[in-house]
Amino acid sequence: TPRLILILGDQLTQTVAALKAADKARDVVVMAEVADEASYVQHHPKKIALIFAAMRKFAARLREAGWDVRYTELDDTENSGSIPGELLRRAGETGAQRVIATEPGEWRLIGLLNDLPLPVTLLEDDRFIASHKEFDAWAKGRKALRMEYFYREMRRKTGLLMDGDQPTGGQWNYDHDNRKPAPGDIDADGPPRFTPDPVTEEVLDLVEARFGNSFGTLRPFWFGTDAEQAQQALDAFVTHALPRFGDYQDAMLAGHRFLYHSVISVYLNIGLLDPLDICRAVEDAYRRGHAPLNAAEGFIRQIIGWREYVRGIYFLEGPDYPSRNALGQSRDLPAAYWGAPTDMACLSAAVEQTRDEAYAHHIQRLMVTGNFALLAGVDPGQVHDWYLRVYADAFEWVEAPNTVGMSQFADGGIIASKPYVSSGAYIDRMSDYCKTCAYSVKQKTGQGACPFNLLYWHFLVRHRDRFDGNPRMGNMYRTWERMDAARRDTVLKDAEAFLAKLDAGQRV
Ligand code: FAD
Ligand code: SF4
Repeated sequence: TPRLILILGDQLTQTVAALKAADKARDVVVMAEVADEASYVQHHPKKIALIFAAMRKFAARLREAGWDVRYTELDDTENSGSIPGELLRRAGETGAQRVIATEPGEWRLIGLLNDLPLPVTLLEDDRFIASHKEFDAWAKGRKALRMEYFYREMRRKTGLLMDGDQPTGGQWNYDHDNRKPAPGDIDADGPPRFTPDPVTEEVLDLVEARFGNSFGTLRPFWFGTDAEQAQQALDAFVTHALPRFGDYQDAMLAGHRFLYHSVISVYLNIGLLDPLDICRAVEDAYRRGHAPLNAAEGFIRQIIGWREYVRGIYFLEGPDYPSRNALGQSRDLPAAYWGAPTDMACLSAAVEQTRDEAYAHHIQRLMVTGNFALLAGVDPGQVHDWYLRVYADAFEWVEAPNTVGMSQFADGGIIASKPYVSSGAYIDRMSDYCKTCAYSVKQKTGQGACPFNLLYWHFLVRHRDRFDGNPRMGNMYRTWERMDAARRDTVLKDAEAFLAKLDAGQRV
């Protein structure tokens, strides 16, 4: 009897574990566009279109390679609407009595598969550099799980940027070279844009009809949707943007949505690129003198360091991780996150490009939308829901640790040793947003004062019990104490007034 080989929308890799374990001569591949997955949160239309188009093209390739693929399109009349439903339907159809799947990157789906009334073999997803076992062994017995030490293990394991047992150039990390403000001249023009082929066009029509009302602009749709296009995007990045990636990794510029970022997470996370291949291409660019060491090392650290590390934390911490709320914050997500007009130029720019591109780069996510939500006391569950919906690269294993942990400190400090909060001065230094903003970044209180300046202190005072003793935050509290009492009073009152406006749904 055949077995059902489940391939999910983010498992579009020819060598994914379930396919490696399958027998082409007898097994049946199951792929399904289901309403449950597309709408358990209302995803950005570009994200749904990317996944469905890439799934359809991947299925066609499997068929060409001789696989029996049972593919369910979203509007097939027999579509049962869920992954378990489709597996059971296909089992009935083929007589299969067993399912082989690659472990999903989300506890919810793992639970659904484990509850299936058919035996399911869940294979570890080996498209990552660290296995669960390796990560858990690294984590065991450590008081603090700092990314940097894990990253060094991954450098040793992969041999990337290693000369013998020493890191290339003598240092593990060149981040001190990587915090330059936005440059005046930008010589990269963003990722390559692909014209939709007929398969993608059909998906775009479907998504427009079914999800056209969700937050996010569907057209123009320019993402690549197969492994060759993803490879072209990677090549273009290495050629044009990598050399300055390190220098301007933390910069933000109005009108330059991608700067020197790679925009490859959208391909990597659904399986169209392989993390080690990417890193080897980047190392090679350094070795042949095309990119400096700080760029190559900084980039490789994001992939074999941060990306692997957050995945390890997600699986180590368990299914309740995304719902943690260590700081007890409870405000509703402000309407500006859904595109309501705001006078804050930085927030407006980050949300606008998120709506248009289903993309924002790391510093926009962390220091604009993330920072503002944290300072304003927004419920981290709502923040998590927002990031999961709006970014084309958002899958829970990578989105939740970044949002709940790194950005909102809602895990109580597992990922971040202190909260990523800043006043407007940081945004002003790293971007040109403040130049055109209705608020004044130099102004600390009163009419027109930058909201980040007010909320920064409000946050620190609100959570003083927790952070007062943090050695890395002592300076902040000392600065606060040095302010005269009347001024501190004004700051807090102005912050309260601003929060009251937010709560009343007024334009801020
Ligand atoms: P580049 O800047 O070019 O970096 C290269 C690659 O490194 C990325 O493609 C990505 O694969 C990896 N990377 C970099 N930083 C991280 C990180 N912190 N965690 C994991 N991988 C990283 N990344 C996602 O892939 N999916 C998410 O849902 C996601 N949600 C985030 C939410 C918040 C609040 C924050 C602060 C960050 C989030 N990130 C997420 C991490 C990071 O912002 C994105 O990976 C990055 O912006 C993707 O764009 P890029 O490909 O141009 O990245
Ligand atoms: Fe953002 Fe404040 Fe600068 Fe305006 S002044 S762009 S709100 S940091």
